[in-house]
Amino acid sequence: MNNCKRLARRPREECGVCGVFGHPDAAKLTYFGLYALQHRGQESAGIVSTDGARLYEHKSMGLVPEIFTEEKIQNLKGDIALGHVRYSTTGASTITNAQPFTASHQGLYLSVAHNGNIVNIRELRERLEKKGAIFQSTMDSEVVVHLLAHNLSKGLDKAIVETFSQLEGAFSMILMTQDRLIAIRDSHGFRPLCLGKLNNGSYIVASETCAFDLVEAQYIRDVKPGEVLTITREGLDSSCPLPKKKQSFCIFEHVYFARPDSDIFGVNVYSCRKKMGNILARECSIDADFVMPFPDSGNYAAIGYSQASGIPLEMGVIRNHYVGRTFIQPTQSMRDFTVRVKLNPVRSFLKDKKVIIIEDSIIRGTTGRSRIKSLREVGVKEVHMFISCPPTRFPCYYGIDFPTGAELIAASKSVDEIREHLGLDGLYYLSVEGLVEATGCDADSFCLACFTGDYPVLPDKKFHKLALGGL
Ligand code: SF4
Repeated sequence: MNNCKRLARRPREECGVCGVFGHPDAAKLTYFGLYALQHRGQESAGIVSTDGARLYEHKSMGLVPEIFTEEKIQNLKGDIALGHVRYSTTGASTITNAQPFTASHQGLYLSVAHNGNIVNIRELRERLEKKGAIFQSTMDSEVVVHLLAHNLSKGLDKAIVETFSQLEGAFSMILMTQDRLIAIRDSHGFRPLCLGKLNNGSYIVASETCAFDLVEAQYIRDVKPGEVLTITREGLDSSCPLPKKKQSFCIFEHVYFARPDSDIFGVNVYSCRKKMGNILARECSIDADFVMPFPDSGNYAAIGYSQASGIPLEMGVIRNHYVGRTFIQPTQSMRDFTVRVKLNPVRSFLKDKKVIIIEDSIIRGTTGRSRIKSLREVGVKEVHMFISCPPTRFPCYYGIDFPTGAELIAASKSVDEIREHLGLDGLYYLSVEGLVEATGCDADSFCLACFTGDYPVLPDKKFHKLALGGL
């Protein structure tokens, strides 16, 4: 019997979005954009395109290259396309929840691709249900489409302002109709969203700039917090009609989620992660034989730590790049299989060494514990771990798959208790101030809630039920 088991979990981003307007290969370019954004969601993906007359759609569960064949992409006709990769933090992981979500209303086709969590969505949904609305999915995006339809008698532009002014929380969203692409970012600006230009002068909007590099698009600028950016045959139209709110970029995009080759909130992620390592070395320095990451999570901060401390950087564990998302269950006697199949320590090199491990974060602590155990088993003398962010003590409500406070190890244990739990000789975290300094921006620019508990906006009382799939 083939028993499949999912690999040990790391925190996951909810979604990535990409849209192209005015290019004959719109669907193909969107496909490449999604390919570059795969790290933002691996459960499902979809593309909807239009030739102005009708919509063409393909969505499925799985990874982007598994879902789209050359033939499937050729069937997505037209010069406007919208795509989405998804990992669910609200709603179940099923094909009905795959995006883009599309509906039609009085001749207008509306497709929506969304990144982020809207924290008053349950209240809004209940209000609509009382008025007779029927929902096909458990997604935030479907509620948004219903709200837009309710307001459409005033025209699409007014419907957008009325609808999006009611939403609280995180939304970096792209809407597509038969003749336009509309990018909208919440007034806090939690999730990134950026605008680029393709070689033929047409436009592309995507969650991260790494999507532009693959299709040779030029980055123009970020979609501003609270901005509604409409792309039509006439060009770009920008307005900022949504209520002003405190800017709260998600700093965790820099710590872990975004790709290092992206510029997020105007700062390159690779440089920022290296800087985190530099500052970590300045804040806490010890002697060791070498510094090493568990690839790939701590790679860039480890380079920064090594350069600032003068302690050599080594790759003491080797990553198997061919491990899929599932594998056949090992036998009982194969201890720590999940860890070893992916990351295997270099036994003879590590024996009797004092090592500094650089990690980007500790969420539950389960993966870290097994990894440290595997180092002890090959004879490492001392293991000290340095984390390139502060302890993650509070859950995220804005679109990152952080567990509830009860599952976050730093919510209930002190640093010393975590050290003991992981089997380490030393454990050190980057300070909040050091993390902000690494970005080169003011602390006021960021959401730091998972470290500080200071939430820019609180979810409604029913949010947790929704977040846990309670619909
Ligand atoms: Fe990002 Fe943490 Fe704020 Fe969530 S709580 S948006 S992960 S900084």
